[in-house]
Amino acid sequence: MKLKITVLPGDGIGPEVTREAVRILRCVADLNNYDFEFTERAIGGVAIDQFGTPLPAETIESCLASNAVLLGAVGSPKYDHLPPEKRVEAGLLGLRKALKGFANLRPAIVYPGIADCSPLKEEIVRGADIMFVRELLGGLYFGEPRGFVGANHEAAFNTMRYSVEEIERVGRVAFELARKRRKKVTSVDKANVLETSQLWRQVVTLLGKEYPDVKLEHTYVDACAMRLVTAPTSFDVVLTENLFGDILSDEAGVLSGSLGTLASATIGGDVDLYEPVHGSAPDIAGKSIANPIGAIASAAMLLRHTAKLDQDARDIEQAIVKVIDSGYRTKDLAREGKFEVSTTEMGKLVEQALAEVVDNRRAYHAV
Ligand code: NAD
Repeated sequence: MKLKITVLPGDGIGPEVTREAVRILRCVADLNNYDFEFTERAIGGVAIDQFGTPLPAETIESCLASNAVLLGAVGSPKYDHLPPEKRVEAGLLGLRKALKGFANLRPAIVYPGIADCSPLKEEIVRGADIMFVRELLGGLYFGEPRGFVGANHEAAFNTMRYSVEEIERVGRVAFELARKRRKKVTSVDKANVLETSQLWRQVVTLLGKEYPDVKLEHTYVDACAMRLVTAPTSFDVVLTENLFGDILSDEAGVLSGSLGTLASATIGGDVDLYEPVHGSAPDIAGKSIANPIGAIASAAMLLRHTAKLDQDARDIEQAIVKVIDSGYRTKDLAREGKFEVSTTEMGKLVEQALAEVVDNRRAYHAV
């Protein structure tokens, strides 16, 4: 297995957590004799410092010549005074646009060992394992026409628009994923009010007939928002359009207890992009206290979705669970009676646990 990965550590805690994700990918390569090639490039504030732009041409070139991109985070207070189109976040938006991914996958997992860290009652969140599939290139964020009306902006408007093709391609991603999980898709819409949602429901229903082994349910976005905090374990794959997905996946992210554990993938375009959900966290940068689990879990997603190395992805996920179950936590999740570890120590613990998981699996299959 040969894999070319462009690594974009970015700003703040980005380099700290990405280093641990790469450590784990190198460990997978060593354990399996895979050939993973890593190329590091600049993005965000560090790219402005070095190249005068948040997204240098050589970064895009390297990404487009890779099988996947692993990003840390961007965001630098040093450049917050710039207008939005020149700020470092514009580099990230430019990258996403260049890679053309249309399906954003955001797992919301409550790891059993840290279910006590959720702001919700432990008995409600324990066992929650949701996969959001959010359409990323259509809907209200991109629809035309859009704009302000009148010289004094007396009004403003946006357009929500979806084509059958856009709904079908992201819907297919959700059904395929559900097939490999607990075989349930919850499609979210507002079909009692919006035409785009009525079309969404029609197309998803029709698509569902191609997947008779997957249970399909439809829910209104408002009901979904409530159910996420009252019965999160009732979801498997949640399929949503762009705006609803943006809001709901953030809401679900809270279930896990720390932003630092959340991973994401953007797939379906020319090159897949993997990144933890959190930002550059300038408040904790340079202290080695950031939680690298979100970045490591993003690396696991890279193996599953781009490289189709499902077993290796599962090994990493099992190693994460093992370390958390053993009571090790970074500062964001620290509680009395648990062992507080640094970012690097957490990475090394997952690496160690991964070697054990793989050893045990091989020993079991050798019997
Ligand atoms: P943030 O995600 O960086 O931080 C929010 C809070 O969560 C902070 O208190 C931070 O310390 C904590 N946190 C975040 N990641 C953590 C981790 N791995 N371990 C432990 N704690 C963690 O969001 P913010 O403070 O609103 O934004 C900071 C900068 O990051 C801004 O410039 C923003 O634009 C940018 N940003 C970038 C991305 C991205 O690169 N995808 C996403 C969101 C925000």
